[in-house]
Amino acid sequence: MWQTSFIEISKSALENNYNFLREMMPGVRISSVVKGNAYGHGIEHFVPLAEACGIDHFSVFSANEAMRVMHSAKSRPDIMIMGMIDDHELLWAIENNISFFVFNWERLKLAQEIALKAGLQARVHIEAETGMNRTGFAFNELNECFKFLSRNRNSVVFEGFCTHFAGAESIANYYRISHQIQVFEKGIEKLKKRGMAPRNFHAACSAAAVRFPNIRYQLVRIGIMQYGFWPSREVFVDYSSKMENKYDPLKRLISWKSKIMSLKNVKANEFIGYGTSFLAQNDMKIAIVPVGYAHGFARSLSNSGRAIINGHRVGVVGTVNMNALTLDVTHLESVNLGDEVVLIGEQGNVDISVSSFSELSDQLNYELLVRLPHDIPRNITD
Ligand SMILES: *Cc1c(COP(=O)(O)O)cnc(C)c1O
Repeated sequence: MWQTSFIEISKSALENNYNFLREMMPGVRISSVVKGNAYGHGIEHFVPLAEACGIDHFSVFSANEAMRVMHSAKSRPDIMIMGMIDDHELLWAIENNISFFVFNWERLKLAQEIALKAGLQARVHIEAETGMNRTGFAFNELNECFKFLSRNRNSVVFEGFCTHFAGAESIANYYRISHQIQVFEKGIEKLKKRGMAPRNFHAACSAAAVRFPNIRYQLVRIGIMQYGFWPSREVFVDYSSKMENKYDPLKRLISWKSKIMSLKNVKANEFIGYGTSFLAQNDMKIAIVPVGYAHGFARSLSNSGRAIINGHRVGVVGTVNMNALTLDVTHLESVNLGDEVVLIGEQGNVDISVSSFSELSDQLNYELLVRLPHDIPRNITD
């Protein structure tokens, strides 16, 4: 059965993005962050594509996502859980050689006990609290933590020492992030004094990897940029200000398309859609598209979202409904039932980036992408 819209994922765009990232940070291993259903692209579709581009390390938020990566991978990549793993999932992770962040004693001790009992090794990343105040061992707990790791080498592998920044995509956070870097570096000093070396140090997300080259260490955790989006406009401006060419080297993988379900002429002074949010000022022609907030097209895009039809950008009029939205096609020369509607992506020379839905928030790209429902079909294109 046809779904009311579909998503296309471009393989060549992904290759382009990895080539760019590898050129920018030669020798640094990329962990491909695929939490949030691979930022809406679909874990099952995205993971094999990334592997084909040479990626062999994936980061997820939960054990459930780790399992999905494991089942969709063609090779045997490293998988790292950065967030939630329930007590009863620890044995499964250890048995499957999946590494995970550890940010409290409860998890560290339980992982060690379970690994010991199973005659296996738990691969842990010790997360340091450096100033985000979310998860992580406090600085004054680190020594104790490192001692525990040295005593339990047989059952616990010290896979990584890591932290996460509280908004590296915004210049306004510069001092906060710089302070976090200092704290993390002091943690590294503590380790060196003990003669201990985890397999990896890692701290950088996309924004930090671009802006702070000296903290890429062995591994960077790249999410949004592999999908072809900058973490924020500021990060792109910061990057391009150092370049002679000002063009955007990233390419977006995703397109989201539907088609016109109904066309209608509306007389001036009529309201369009529910309520009174849009009043036609002139005679208008409108197109109804079978995509609404149930399909991930945010209701906040009422009277402001954009789409492309026949190579022209058109605007959303009225409120976005649960299953439909309305576009103003008054000025299109030719428009017919069934014509393709591009909600994200390009057609001809015109292009709708996710963020041009609205410039209200840097976080919007992330949020819109991850909210794309799992059941919209994804097709891989060249
Ligand atoms: C999401 C996430 C990343 C990736 O962030 P991007 O900005 O998408 O590159 C890296 N590290 C952690 C801990 C994350 O949660």
